[in-house]
Amino acid sequence: MQGQYDVIVVGAGPIGSATARHLADRGRSVLVVGPDEPSGFEDHRGVWAGYYDEGRLAHVLEVPLVTSLLAMRSIRRFAELRERTGVTFTVPTHSVSVMPEAPAGGSSADWFDRGILVANARDLGVEVSELDAAELREAYPSVTFEPGHVAVVQRDAAILNPRRLVRAELAAATSAAGADLVRDEVVRTERAHDGVRVTARSGASWTAGRVVLATGAASNATGLLPRPLLMPTFGATVVLVAVDGPDALDMPAMMYLKQRDARTVFGGIVMSPLRYPDGEWYVKVSGRSLLDTPLDTAEEIGAWVRTGGRQEDIGEALAVLRDLMPGREFGPARTRPCLVSATPTERPYIDLVDERTVIAVEGERGAMAADEIGRLTAELAVHGRWKDSIPHEVFRAQWGEPGWNTAGWLASRR
Ligand SMILES: Cc1cc2nc3c(=O)[nH]c(=O)nc-3n(C[C@H](O)[C@H](O)[C@H](O)COP(=O)(O)OP(=O)(O)OC[C@H]3O[C@@H](n4cnc5c(N)ncnc54)[C@H](O)[C@@H]3O)c2cc1C
Repeated sequence: MQGQYDVIVVGAGPIGSATARHLADRGRSVLVVGPDEPSGFEDHRGVWAGYYDEGRLAHVLEVPLVTSLLAMRSIRRFAELRERTGVTFTVPTHSVSVMPEAPAGGSSADWFDRGILVANARDLGVEVSELDAAELREAYPSVTFEPGHVAVVQRDAAILNPRRLVRAELAAATSAAGADLVRDEVVRTERAHDGVRVTARSGASWTAGRVVLATGAASNATGLLPRPLLMPTFGATVVLVAVDGPDALDMPAMMYLKQRDARTVFGGIVMSPLRYPDGEWYVKVSGRSLLDTPLDTAEEIGAWVRTGGRQEDIGEALAVLRDLMPGREFGPARTRPCLVSATPTERPYIDLVDERTVIAVEGERGAMAADEIGRLTAELAVHGRWKDSIPHEVFRAQWGEPGWNTAGWLASRR
């Protein structure tokens, strides 16, 4: 298979699919190349993603402010995308960020700085409430939070289904706006006289004026970058705990920093019940082991995926849920592997790698913000220079020395 496009987008996850649809909406000829979700992980080989799940928070309760802004710009277009494609990808929820009244610090403390969360939301004109411990108990009487914990609540937040978001973006890109989609893995990009030649594992190749790498947390392991991005990458574990149905637990979606005696007992996401593709309902918990498993190579990623995630996290998840809902019995729990990455700037990278190549990555908030990151990336790919009112400096990629890797980065911090 051969072809010539204005832009080829590598990676059909949330950011790649959003980039493709914004490019196609601007009348560009676009090819998006990326594998579909594998049917299982037990014998998995090859690339993996951060979006293979049913629930991601979509709200403005974020730090830094620019993350909230990217999320808000995306969320404002959700209704239009849904109407255009017929794909519903959000359900309304209260998003509740719960933290000690006086947090003891630690690596996740920034995400739970109540003053900043509230200030960011108010800067964007989004209404949020601050709840003291008594108000928190009263607002969510079925849930028992750690004593002395307080909250910030956004009542018009959403749980976003990232698989369905990808379906919607790809539907908009391909059916309405004429983009092509090929289910393959890109193994090489190289300069050609008329732009960039992109070659896939199947042997197919295409050329384009520009290529966008939207390859997610695994970007450093693809072999498609000339030097390593400063972007630590980790194997994250999601624990799914079976419940009887959507109304089995009366709880909001929450970010929860739980500290006891100035020690962090849990820091992560507890998602209200969601239905998964097996037809069952689960509460999803993703906690403290988020940054425990550094992954630098495709082989390490494959080996991690095949483990299915850290089994020890099941105990932590059940302990958190039993504390939140004392006396309640929970069904069987299982783990799923996920990829996550971080940038030292705590912002996405949206930047030129060279004059023909654009990189777009956001490992921690890239579902809720994907549509806007995709729009910004599309603009950069079309014009070859930055056009937005947010200065490009905010999204500049940072690069490591040759040989830089997550394991070394982690060791240097310990
Ligand atoms: C446990 C957990 C909880 C999270 N919670 C939230 C949340 O509440 N809210 C939120 O907004 N975000 C959340 N995130 C982050 C969010 O899921 C990611 O930021 C998002 O998935 C990033 O999208 P992406 O398209 O950049 O990357 P990915 O989702 O990783 O997709 C990248 C795609 O590129 C493909 N690819 C890779 N290499 C190649 C190649 N060589 N050729 C072709 N294709 C390739 C992959 O197959 C994949 O489909 C969470 C992540 C985790 C792990």
